[in-house]
Amino acid sequence: MIDTHSHIYLPKFDEDRDAVNERAAEAGVRGILMPAIDFDSIPLMEKLSHPGIAFYKMAGVHPCDVKEELPNDFEEKLLEYCSRDDFYGVGESGLDYYWSTELVKQQKESFHLHCKVAKQVGKPVIIHNRESTADMLEIIEQEQDGSLKGIWHCFNGTAEEGRRAIDLGLHLGIGGVVTFKNAGVDKTVAELPLDKMMLETDAPYLSPTPKRGKRNEPAFMKFTAEKLADIFEMSLEEVDEKTTETAKRLFGV
Ligand SMILES: [Zn+2]
Repeated sequence: MIDTHSHIYLPKFDEDRDAVNERAAEAGVRGILMPAIDFDSIPLMEKLSHPGIAFYKMAGVHPCDVKEELPNDFEEKLLEYCSRDDFYGVGESGLDYYWSTELVKQQKESFHLHCKVAKQVGKPVIIHNRESTADMLEIIEQEQDGSLKGIWHCFNGTAEEGRRAIDLGLHLGIGGVVTFKNAGVDKTVAELPLDKMMLETDAPYLSPTPKRGKRNEPAFMKFTAEKLADIFEMSLEEVDEKTTETAKRLFGV
């Protein structure tokens, strides 16, 4: 399995990171893709290592960390990191209207820049979306020139929104919320094609059932994979094989 979205470099794992990675390897996680929160995330990512797991860096600024003024060198810096061979994606970016709508203009501007850089370097943009689906899809539509690749991370839209995202060239990151009893994401996911989906944790956030409420970690992705196996009536191995293949193709890992 590949965890396509994990913040394993954050201080929340400082005390027991080796044990967390060991459990991930035991659960069958062979690769972990790490979206950044901001540029300060990158030196933390550089420190990660485990003999059984490949760690893949990404660069970007999370919509909740966008400031009143985007720095002058923002695009240049983003492009510089993302063009490097040891960076595999652009993000995480996107929009978040849940926490605050004060900086919507700046969030949009930043999201556009991430999309632009993603097209320039030919790597996927990682999209965070919270209570902002219409605007998010509109920006993707504006930016899509046939070359934009991206993942709607922690997908929780309607089936119609999911189909629209897929039509616009996006893939869907499926995380712990698909296991939540009353969220309804499982029913939506059932209506969408598995070959556009990838597994992710968003660790340390959004632990799947039965670990809901606890700190999330890559090993818990097996619960999400089991849920997808249930939904699509296939074996865990098949879900693993298909989603891993998709992740490898999209990220070139
Ligand atoms: Zn994230």
